Amino acid sequence: MSKVLIIGAGGVGRVVASKCADNPEVFSEIMLASRTLSKCETIAREVGKGRITPAQVNADNVQEVVDLINRFKPELVINVALPYQDLPIMDACLETGVNYLDTANYEPKDEAKFEYSWQWAYHERFKEKGIMAVLGCGFDPGVTSIYTAYAAKHHFDEIHTLDIVDCNAGDHGKAFATNFNPEINIREVTQKGKFWENGQWVETEPHEIKKVLNYPNIGPRDSYLIYHEELESLVKNFPTLQRARFWMTFGQEYLTHLRVIQNIGMARIDPVKYKGVDVIPLEFLKYVLPDPGELGENYHGETSIGCRIRGIKNGSEQTYYIWNNCSHEVAYRETGTQAVSYTTGVPAMLGAMMVLTGKWNGKGVFNVEEFNPDPFMEKIGEHGLPWQEAFNIDLEL
Ligand code: NDP
Repeated sequence: MSKVLIIGAGGVGRVVASKCADNPEVFSEIMLASRTLSKCETIAREVGKGRITPAQVNADNVQEVVDLINRFKPELVINVALPYQDLPIMDACLETGVNYLDTANYEPKDEAKFEYSWQWAYHERFKEKGIMAVLGCGFDPGVTSIYTAYAAKHHFDEIHTLDIVDCNAGDHGKAFATNFNPEINIREVTQKGKFWENGQWVETEPHEIKKVLNYPNIGPRDSYLIYHEELESLVKNFPTLQRARFWMTFGQEYLTHLRVIQNIGMARIDPVKYKGVDVIPLEFLKYVLPDPGELGENYHGETSIGCRIRGIKNGSEQTYYIWNNCSHEVAYRETGTQAVSYTTGVPAMLGAMMVLTGKWNGKGVFNVEEFNPDPFMEKIGEHGLPWQEAFNIDLEL
């Protein structure tokens, strides 16, 4: 029986809140806090089953988070606000001695760059304080990292290549929309590609490398090599990896919009003076694009995200593919959000459950693949994200 504080009332926050409310035997009391109180109140009313206390907090302000933690006294803070808030929330957890979990690594606001160095730097301080931080417990990063750990533990003596394949074959009926926070999403997909090969990082131009990959129950889709944050921790934690890459599907229409947004300067993150006021084009764009949390109603189709792995077992080469397909309609019926928020929120809730029930423990800062994958894999299906696997197939990669 534990108290949990969820910070962030967007699409992902809604799913985490709903799923925590479904599991009172672990989450005995739940507080949902965010910048806009009314969003917390709406979520509490619509999916909280009468078990969620809404609250207001500006998580950029460490003292505000400290005060909220001292008032509510949670055992764990689940951070599903934006990556910019990771460090202030970690600071507040350190000050109050409370465990921390998130789904995306820290990004500075003024530079489109994400890496774990900032958060890994908290390891010794979390250890000394006797608390833990779980980093990247969404789907990717998150489940894909746990799939990798599970494969390495049960199906290989050594893993040599890893390709994380992320397909969204859904259709929301809009000309252009992002599936999670537009600002973070556009910063992620417009940067240069990068992958790990033979002990070093290889950089590519954005969307330079494309392959047509086949996804279960979906079929062939154009898939582009992009850089994604879990690659950084996975190559560190699985040093036998000779190559690690991340592929994401994009339709031509999406890429055309993205190119136009960049070409006309709307992806800029430096301030522009407009009628005497500093405006950051990408932040403004977020306000005119559809809210990802509200795409769910007309979203059809499904996502398919998984890991394709090659390695050695008992002296011979083996291939392995593990994946989950998630229907936008089913996710929406259950939580009122589309599958991208759902596939992020469910693992965040389950990771929190792992921490609060002592299945995952340790003192310091950890990426999810450092924990025992088995208790998580045993439960993830019953919470809505069942997995499938195939052995010795053509990985296409
Ligand atoms: P949204 O933009 O829908 O929601 C973010 C929420 O955080 C909003 O409610 C926002 O408040 C709140 N927020 C922003 N700034 C502050 C602040 N300073 N203080 C308090 N609250 C704040 O994003 P999503 O729900 O789509 O995504 C949430 C997180 O999940 C992001 O970090 C994203 O990168 C991550 N993610 C991870 C994935 C994975 O698989 N690992 C996949 C998808 C997303 P307000 O409503 O007032 O704007």
